[in-house]
Amino acid sequence: MSTLLQLETIAANLWWSWNPDAQDLFYRLNAEAFRAAGNNPYAALRSADATVLADPDFARDVEAVYAAFRRYLSAPSRRADAPQIGYFCMEFGLHESLPLYAGGLGVLAGDHTKAASDLGLPFTAIGLFLKDGYFKQHFDEHGWQQATYPSLDPDDHPFTLVTDAQGEAVTVTVHLGEQPLRLRAWRLDVGRVPLYLLDADVDGNPAELRSLTHKLYQGDRLMRLQQEIVLGIGGLRMLRALGVEPEVYHLNEGHCAFLMFELLRERLAAGDHRAEAEAWVQRHCVFTTHTPVAAGHDRFVPALFTDQMAGFREQIGLTEQQLLAYGRIDPNDRGESFTMTVLGLKLSRKANGVSALNGEVARRQWHHLYPDRPLDEVPIDHVTNGTHLPTWTAPAARAFLKNHLGNGDAFVFEQDFWNAIDNITDEDLWAYRCLLRRRLIDFIRERAPQQSLAQDVALDPDALTIGFARRFATYKRATLLFQDLERARRLFGHLDRPVQVVFAGKAHPADNGGKRFIQLIYETAKDAAFRGKVIFLENYNMEIGRMLVSGCDVWLNNPRRPLEASGTSGQKVAAHGGMNLSVLDGWWPEGYDGRNGWAIGHAPTGLHEDPATQDHDDALALYDLLEQDVLPAFYNRDADGLPRGWIDRMRRAMKTLPYPFSAGRMVIDYVEQIYRATHPARREDLAA
Ligand SMILES: *Cc1c(COP(=O)(O)O)cnc(C)c1O
Repeated sequence: MSTLLQLETIAANLWWSWNPDAQDLFYRLNAEAFRAAGNNPYAALRSADATVLADPDFARDVEAVYAAFRRYLSAPSRRADAPQIGYFCMEFGLHESLPLYAGGLGVLAGDHTKAASDLGLPFTAIGLFLKDGYFKQHFDEHGWQQATYPSLDPDDHPFTLVTDAQGEAVTVTVHLGEQPLRLRAWRLDVGRVPLYLLDADVDGNPAELRSLTHKLYQGDRLMRLQQEIVLGIGGLRMLRALGVEPEVYHLNEGHCAFLMFELLRERLAAGDHRAEAEAWVQRHCVFTTHTPVAAGHDRFVPALFTDQMAGFREQIGLTEQQLLAYGRIDPNDRGESFTMTVLGLKLSRKANGVSALNGEVARRQWHHLYPDRPLDEVPIDHVTNGTHLPTWTAPAARAFLKNHLGNGDAFVFEQDFWNAIDNITDEDLWAYRCLLRRRLIDFIRERAPQQSLAQDVALDPDALTIGFARRFATYKRATLLFQDLERARRLFGHLDRPVQVVFAGKAHPADNGGKRFIQLIYETAKDAAFRGKVIFLENYNMEIGRMLVSGCDVWLNNPRRPLEASGTSGQKVAAHGGMNLSVLDGWWPEGYDGRNGWAIGHAPTGLHEDPATQDHDDALALYDLLEQDVLPAFYNRDADGLPRGWIDRMRRAMKTLPYPFSAGRMVIDYVEQIYRATHPARREDLAA
């Protein structure tokens, strides 16, 4: 096979996105084109440097990567007894060149899909073809967020249109009210897993509906409901058109829950009685809920729901009230809206939250759905989120770990790999930390002048570097560090203990509170005490995420407890020797052992009565920790110039966190605790 054909084959599968050796080939082919297009191999291929292609050394490297890719595809399954899984999600974060995600949910779905591929599970993923994606962030001169939606061209990316034997697009039809809508699908290969993305942009569809699937989390309630009909009902119909019959359907968040209606319709059409059909759907569906935040649970008023479901209702043959009842806590309350999470809970065999604490919070949150049960018997468990180590570990970090600990699958699948961190010297670990920090600072120095946001950059490559990158949802409290400006100024004012902070994150375009937070940071950064040392990096995406989680010494996480269901960005820092400085929310109560990072404030309790008091208390705890623990540990150097106490903590974090909070561990837990149907149908109490 020619070098070019091998390269094209590698580019056509997102396996390259978590393999630095593969990325390096495209970089060598045409670095400028590759980077300008958001690290997109197709751009490098189009403008390949002919002398590079003709170079025998390059050809040999391509051959080696190609061979590794073939080995990956044919490796035996690590969980051969796993059932076939259909995984539905509204968004997928796979790589920065494919903006099919808004934040944590999408990145988690992408990581889950990649880990399913690593494990060799029989796994098919379904989502939407979000051609215009989530927005690209820039700013006006006042630091007020602006949004643009650059369109993806499928020809510039590894999408293939799903066609039949005659080469015609495979289509399925759903009804929005009485209006039929045809859908086609684009396929992305994520290692060994196919991901099908539904697209309403089909000839013959009404013009105003052709872009229905193109934007993520935009538009009104009608558009959201229509997108969810496409994802759930259309998604299952597309799977059937392709001959895919999963044994387990994993509903990752409620957006896709109409899939349960379509399964119910299939069973009723096959002759099941309603109770049998419901029991069948429950036996085959598992549901994950990702947030205690009310806005994260889609609700539709009865009139809108009934109007849009009219066509489907005729197909399934149930009454309006019967359909509505599946999404109501009180099926007899005719005023109650239809909630997707309620449908997901009612028609699943197992439900879970995404951390131990979130499971507990979710049981409290949905207790009223199970009035006859004590709180601890509310049937919602948890599987704690994890991140895909090959995606999130920086190439320089992979190289370091490989040199010291060896390479291969152990990095992904074995705790023993991480235990061997003990064999690395303090000197080497500290050099590793400093190298990664300096790479981040180089990246920021290069990036900042290209931004729309005008900022001075005076970062010190040896100073303690704090990172805060996440969606600017207000509960995440991005501005907490500046709650008491005088105290923050003092903290940044120590000449012998310099501190610097890098922020990144997008506010939802309708969230003015979140946008105001970004603006506040931008304005605060102009204060003489912070200038050059408080930086906002615009357009947070997976690339900026990778840079920050690898480079920062401290990862700050200060949500208003207990609203962070898991949070995953802090999990990504551990392999790089970064330290979490976090409220005990989401995954951190499980991760923190007293020696592998820091906990802000007290052990988790309920939500404070008074958020202002909680903010005040947490800000004080944060300042105290920084002044009394974090900064002294970082700057207390011995005769060799090494911060031994800091390195001890780093070592501890690198041993205890990467594997237990990896997507490999997470997906194995899903197989063993959730996907395998060893549990009887758990629900006997479905309302009629
Ligand atoms: C990891 C990641 C997230 C999720 O991080 P949280 O800690 O849950 O906020 C969101 N966006 C991007 C780009 C990420 O890489």
